[in-house]
Amino acid sequence: MGVLEGLQPASVFHYFEEISRIPHGSGNIGKISDYLRDFAKERGLFHIQDKFGNVVIVKEEAAGFEKEEPYILQAHMDMVAVADEGCDIDMKTESLRLKTEAGKIYAEHTSLGGDDGIGVAYCLALLDTEDIALPRLEVILTADEETGMEGAKEIDLSMLQGHRMINLDQEEEGIFIVSCAGGARVDVKIPLAEDSGDTQNMRQLTMRVKGLLGGHSGVEIDKGRGNANWILGALLCGLSQRFDIRLSKIQGGQADNAIPREAEALILVREEDVAEIDAFLKTEEEKFRTELGEKDPGFALEKVCHNGIVCDKSCTKESTAQALACICKLPNGVIDRSADVEGLVETSLNLGVMSLQENELRLSYAVRSSVDSSRENLCRHMIEIAERAGARAKVKNAYPGWAYRKDSPLREKMTAAYRELFGKAPTIQAIHAGLECGILAGKIADLDCVSIGPDLSDVHTAQEKMDIASVERVWNYLLKVLTECGQK
Ligand SMILES: [Zn+2]
Repeated sequence: MGVLEGLQPASVFHYFEEISRIPHGSGNIGKISDYLRDFAKERGLFHIQDKFGNVVIVKEEAAGFEKEEPYILQAHMDMVAVADEGCDIDMKTESLRLKTEAGKIYAEHTSLGGDDGIGVAYCLALLDTEDIALPRLEVILTADEETGMEGAKEIDLSMLQGHRMINLDQEEEGIFIVSCAGGARVDVKIPLAEDSGDTQNMRQLTMRVKGLLGGHSGVEIDKGRGNANWILGALLCGLSQRFDIRLSKIQGGQADNAIPREAEALILVREEDVAEIDAFLKTEEEKFRTELGEKDPGFALEKVCHNGIVCDKSCTKESTAQALACICKLPNGVIDRSADVEGLVETSLNLGVMSLQENELRLSYAVRSSVDSSRENLCRHMIEIAERAGARAKVKNAYPGWAYRKDSPLREKMTAAYRELFGKAPTIQAIHAGLECGILAGKIADLDCVSIGPDLSDVHTAQEKMDIASVERVWNYLLKVLTECGQK
C-alpha cells in the first residue's frame, strides 16, 4: 500500500507516488522519461519522446469539446536531487521515502521533487481520467529544467495545435505568473600587456570587497545590493585614473547569475603614492557604504599593503587603466523597469564573474529581459563598448523571455474561474527570473500562458514540503478551468 493512498485527489497522489519511486534528479531522467512514454503507449495516446528525454503526449477532446481550443499543459520531469548530509540514500538509484505529517508531504532526508513532480502528476491524472470530459490536451513534459532548461531549449513543438498553455511549475497557490525574463550570458575578454621589469620599486597591495549579501541575479537584482565585482572594478578604475597602478591578480564571483559577495585584486602601486591611495580609498569606501546603507549593511573594503613580493607578474600601467575603464563603461544592475507591471524589472545585467587569466581580464555577465529586443539591444551595446576598448565580447546561451500580454484571454478566464471558486482574486505576478514558459513562448506562435501550482516550501532542499490540501484545491481549480468551455 502506498504512503499517499487515501489522500485526495487519489489519482494525482497515485501518480506522484509512482514518480517518486523512479529516481529522476536532473541529468538522470532516462527512466522517468521512459515511464512517461510507456504511460502514453499503454493508453494508446499519441506521444513523442525525443533524444533529449522530453515527452509530449496528446489526448484528443471528449465529445462536446470539438469546438474548444486545445489546452497545452506543461511541467518538467526532473527534480533537484539533494540529500541531508550523511544520509545513506543514493538518489541516483533509490526511490524517495515519502512521509506525511501535519497536512504536508515530504521525503525523508531528501528533497521531495514536488517541484515539479506534482505538475507531472496533475498531467498524468488528467490524461488518465475517463470520467471527466475534457478538451484536447497537449501535454509537454520537459527534461532537465533545473540545470539550464536544456529540454525546453531542444524540444520540437511544431506538432502542437494549441496556443494557450497552463504551466504547472509554480510554488505558491493563488499566485499566477504571467511573464518572465529571457536571458543570455555575455563574456568579455580584455587583453592585458605584461610588465617588463620596471616595477622593482613598487609595493603590492591587496584589495578585498567583502561582506555583501549577494543573491540571485534575477530575483534580487532590484534590491539595491552591492555587486562585489562591480564595486572593486569601480574602485580600481578610480585609482588607475589618478595613480600608476598595475593589475597583478583579480578574482570575484562564481556564477554569472549570482550577485557576487566578494572580490579581490592584487595591484602594484608606487611607494610614494601609498598614503594618497589610502586616503582616496577611504573616501570611496565611505561613499559606497553610504549609498548601500541598509540595503547591504555588511559592505567592507579590506586593504593589505605587502612588504614583500606576493606575485611577480603584473600588467602595464596603460593596459591596466584601459581594462579597468572598460568595466566601468559596461553597464551593470537594473537597466529598465516595466511600464505594464508595477515594480517589475524588465531588463538587467549582472557582472557575476571576474578573473585575470592568460593576460586577459575576463568578465561574465548574466543579461535578463522579458522583452527580447531589449535584451538583444543591451548585448549589442556591450559588444560595441568592448570592441571600442580593444576587447572581445561574445553572447552565449541566449533564450527568449515571456513578455507580459496586455490582452490575455487565458489569464482573464483563469482569473474569473479563480474568483468563482475561491471568492477572491489571484495575485498576478511577473518575475525577472527565467522560466521554461519563456523558451516555449519562443516556439509556439502567439502563446497565451499562465503558470500556477500548489504550495511548496523549501524547494531544492531536503526540507522541501508539499501542502496536501493545496494540491487538492489546485486540482479542483484546474478541472474547473479545463472543463468550462465556450470562452472563445
Ligand atoms: Zn521547477
